[in-house]
Amino acid sequence: MMVQSTRGGEAVPLSVAIARGQATDGGLYMPPRLPPQPGPWGDDLPARAAAALRPYFAGDALALQLDDCVRESFTFPAPTTWFDDDTGLLELFHGPTAAFKDFGARFLAACLVRLVPRGKQATVLVATSGDTGAAVAAAFWRRPGFRVVVLYPDGRVSPRQAHQLGAFGDNVTTLRVAGTFDDCQRLVKAAFADHALTGKHGLVSANSISLGRLLPQMAYYVHAALDARAAGKGAVHFVVPTGNLGNGFACLLAREAGLPIGRIVLATNGNRVLPDFLRTGRYEPKASLATLANAMDVGAPSNLERLRDRCADPASAVTADWVDDDTIRRTITATLRDRGTVVCPHTACGLAVLERLRARGETGPCLVAATAHPAKFDTVVEPLVGRSVPVPPALAALLARPARAEPMAATLADLVARLG
Ligand SMILES: *Cc1c(COP(=O)(O)O)cnc(C)c1O
Repeated sequence: MMVQSTRGGEAVPLSVAIARGQATDGGLYMPPRLPPQPGPWGDDLPARAAAALRPYFAGDALALQLDDCVRESFTFPAPTTWFDDDTGLLELFHGPTAAFKDFGARFLAACLVRLVPRGKQATVLVATSGDTGAAVAAAFWRRPGFRVVVLYPDGRVSPRQAHQLGAFGDNVTTLRVAGTFDDCQRLVKAAFADHALTGKHGLVSANSISLGRLLPQMAYYVHAALDARAAGKGAVHFVVPTGNLGNGFACLLAREAGLPIGRIVLATNGNRVLPDFLRTGRYEPKASLATLANAMDVGAPSNLERLRDRCADPASAVTADWVDDDTIRRTITATLRDRGTVVCPHTACGLAVLERLRARGETGPCLVAATAHPAKFDTVVEPLVGRSVPVPPALAALLARPARAEPMAATLADLVARLG
């Protein structure tokens, strides 16, 4: 399939868009409207991932390798756990770095290893608010021909996120930047805008605007919606904890593909640019604010440009609400008390927003995307629930490794020096 920039530039094949990350005119690549997907959808997550992605890869250089890319990346489950008839979690944290970003990062890596010419050295340069960096590092770790350079805002990620980011070594360089996530993102953008630098290091992008990360995220919504229908539930609503709107946009694409999905509700933390935009119609990006749900500390959600491109009236396609840190804390405590489940601060944003919807009379089956494992945020979660949270084995293995991150000033000059 050919895709086109939100800013109207030339159309390019999907795999070119995946290799580039961002469109050359500064816009985001978008697929044209898709025909509804009649199926067959298959029975398990990898089969459904392949079915959801197939129309996008039709006629593409990667079309014949799509099944292999899916098989390599969808190696862990995305189970749905229902608390009762109407409310449940879609657990997206069973991958190697315990956050949903493993799905997109691994699929992107599977594509890029096939797209970057053999013998050419590529540098994956990525800014992270906490979870992207580890997912991307894990996906490219020890892959010949690739090195990963991760920038994270020093002191603004959880201690375990920081350890995880620095625990890879080998072909992964981790830089802790004296600044915010916005600074990290600005530096990465500036590096990509520098053609000499891009050419010298073979820079490739892995941030959340890449279609190689965005499109595979449809798969678990497809999977969960079909399972809910098979269980006799009908169309299911989704509440998606949101920062850059990549995960939420993937849910929208799944609904457009014809899946039985009802409302899509975006839940943000105190960085409330999206809910404010949907309420007022005015987009006012802000500096990001540090919250307990740090992987969603985004003041200028990059995929909003896709939503505005796709929907003449975005507020008719999705709704959004935000919660403050106190509400996150209260929700974590209440979810253990009422549901017997410990959730991460991001998932708590989703559950809190759902509770408000219920209070306003919203009915019907609803799944909250559980975007990360609570053990990643032990310093927030454990004091609230009064017990230790068991660490999943993959995360434990990373935490057992020594960690190393080099300090860096928030300047392009320093980044250029680190790139070598
Ligand atoms: C990245 C992340 C989010 C936000 O996802 P977007 O696609 O940027 O909206 C939410 N929760 C967790 C745990 C994350 O790592």
